[in-house]
Amino acid sequence: MYLNIKEELEQSQTTLVAVSKTKPISSIQEMYDQGQRIFGENRVQELVEKQEALPKDIEWHLIGSLQTNKVKFIAPFISLIHSVDSLRLAQKINDEALKSDRVIDILLQIKIATEFSKQGMEPQVLTELLDTAAFSKLPNIRICGLMGMASFTDDEAQVAKEFRSLQKIFTGLKETHFPFAHFQHLSMGMSGDYKLAIENGSNMVRIGSLLFGSRGNTN
Ligand SMILES: *Cc1c(COP(=O)(O)O)cnc(C)c1O
Repeated sequence: MYLNIKEELEQSQTTLVAVSKTKPISSIQEMYDQGQRIFGENRVQELVEKQEALPKDIEWHLIGSLQTNKVKFIAPFISLIHSVDSLRLAQKINDEALKSDRVIDILLQIKIATEFSKQGMEPQVLTELLDTAAFSKLPNIRICGLMGMASFTDDEAQVAKEFRSLQKIFTGLKETHFPFAHFQHLSMGMSGDYKLAIENGSNMVRIGSLLFGSRGNTN
């Protein structure tokens, strides 16, 4: 399955984040041996344990919600944090990055789902925040794009609409606030909806169960 998806994504120049949460180190090592280098986790402790045990050229992405008091554990090595949903968290990442003498790449997570439960900043809140220029005073983070999760529904038209709304925000911000080459990632799409996401502008997908098998219903 891995090699099929890898080839499919290469054709559309989409970056694959292999979501390895809850999966054992041996499964990650196996996919690493097939060439995968980017892995995503959603829990800090699990991420740190895996990072210590696995090859050091893996690029680890944090995709789940992050508490400010845990940023310090991942700051020394994390490649990309997808789930930055507040100025406070961005400031904390900036502080910890400074301590590690690094600049940490982040994505801003935007709420696009109509469902009540999904995390992320409301687009309007983001725009207001950006206009305060507070983000530009954080030299040890680099805002590299946006992340979003669509509603969990069979209604493909709804999901496509949500993805399109994020793409529109992404394109708009690139013009108004982030005219930089590094503002380049639009992280959207998971096992069930990654094709729709790519059709609607995604260039980075986070795929877990389709690659590693189902996790049961714990995540
Ligand atoms: C678990 C998770 C994924 C992967 O989900 P699958 O449906 O297994 O592909 C993607 N993004 C986030 C934020 C996740 O927590």
